[in-house]
Amino acid sequence: MALIVGVLKETFPEERRVAVTPKVFDVLKKLNAEVWVERDAGAEAGFPDADYAAKGAHLASADEVRRNASILLHVRVPLPEGLPGHTSIGFCDPLSNPDLAAKYAAAGATLFSMELVPRISRAQSMDALSSMASIAGYKAVILAAATLPRLFPMMTTAAGTIPPARVLIMGAGVAGLQAIATARRLGAVVSGFDVRAAVKEQIESLGAKFVNINLGGAKTEGEGGYAKALDDEALRLQRQQMSTFMSEQDVVITTAAVPGKRAPILITEEMVQAMAPGSVIVDLAAERGGNCALTRSGETVIAHGVTILGPSNLPATVPYHASQVYARNLVTFLKHLVNKEGQLNIDTTDEITRDSLVSYKGEVVNPKIQALLGVNV
Ligand code: NAD
Repeated sequence: MALIVGVLKETFPEERRVAVTPKVFDVLKKLNAEVWVERDAGAEAGFPDADYAAKGAHLASADEVRRNASILLHVRVPLPEGLPGHTSIGFCDPLSNPDLAAKYAAAGATLFSMELVPRISRAQSMDALSSMASIAGYKAVILAAATLPRLFPMMTTAAGTIPPARVLIMGAGVAGLQAIATARRLGAVVSGFDVRAAVKEQIESLGAKFVNINLGGAKTEGEGGYAKALDDEALRLQRQQMSTFMSEQDVVITTAAVPGKRAPILITEEMVQAMAPGSVIVDLAAERGGNCALTRSGETVIAHGVTILGPSNLPATVPYHASQVYARNLVTFLKHLVNKEGQLNIDTTDEITRDSLVSYKGEVVNPKIQALLGVNV
């Protein structure tokens, strides 16, 4: 039987992305996949039904898509809605929302999490977290520039010279590095900081200044080159030394995160108070608890004259390109799961398949999620 793939219109509030764009039908065709797309699924991202139809998609209602397809591709995985035998692939945030995994297991459906695709070089083209982080980093700077009552670039005019904005990026992973590059392109004077030593060179290669902070010899790197959560003393040292530098910035963008942990608080209320009125903080860690003590996820807070933005789901605000790169990550992942005979083949000896598989054959199979659900392992 051929592979039958379904794409539903996203139902999460304010989600404007779509999991599959017309451009990736070439990959789906090579897999001999038949594709069912819910009407209007791509409309908000800028992909009209006609473009899917031109690529040979069956346009249908959501029920028809669910009934006909055996593999559903999502941006955000919805509840399973009684889909035994189905496979769903998408973002499902299983470490924060393990209940969804349990529901898929109970429904007898298979669930893959795009967040859990391992970040190994073989899986780079499936790394949806990085694709989305890049877009978020870019958009954070655009939001900051639109909110700041000053200009970003230096301008020499007949009415005088305007100095460039000073922008600090804390946390220079994928989102932070893209933020640095974007702020530089807009003409700001940019500085960056990260606890991982390797990042200094990356920050400098983008034309930004690395802020040197002495963390008292704390171990900053954990498993796989990722950041390790700092202890209270190291965080105190970081905040103390960052405080004066931060008060001289017009914009601070924070992206600091530690896998599986609440985001560290890098900015206290006193540090906000020390900034000049009109300054802007964009906290990209808002959904993970926030890097600023005053951040409220999904809201804008004005405190001590400083505007603190805590945007949630920034990639959904750039839905055309976010969908385009996400769809490419997703179909590359699907291709990885399909064997030479064109069938879905869940080979749990493969690292990419095993790590991203959450629910299978009526069980939650991922050990980390089992632990969160209190399932015996
Ligand atoms: P992330 O979103 O988990 O964290 C963002 C950044 O916050 C990280 O750079 C981290 O070091 C930093 N951070 C943590 N605590 C901090 C603190 N107290 N102060 C300042 N910064 C702090 O990370 P990410 O962007 O998803 O990825 C981080 C790194 O992982 C990348 O830069 C890269 O080296 C690696 N990576 C590898 C691959 C691959 O090999 N395929 C893919 C993606 C990312």
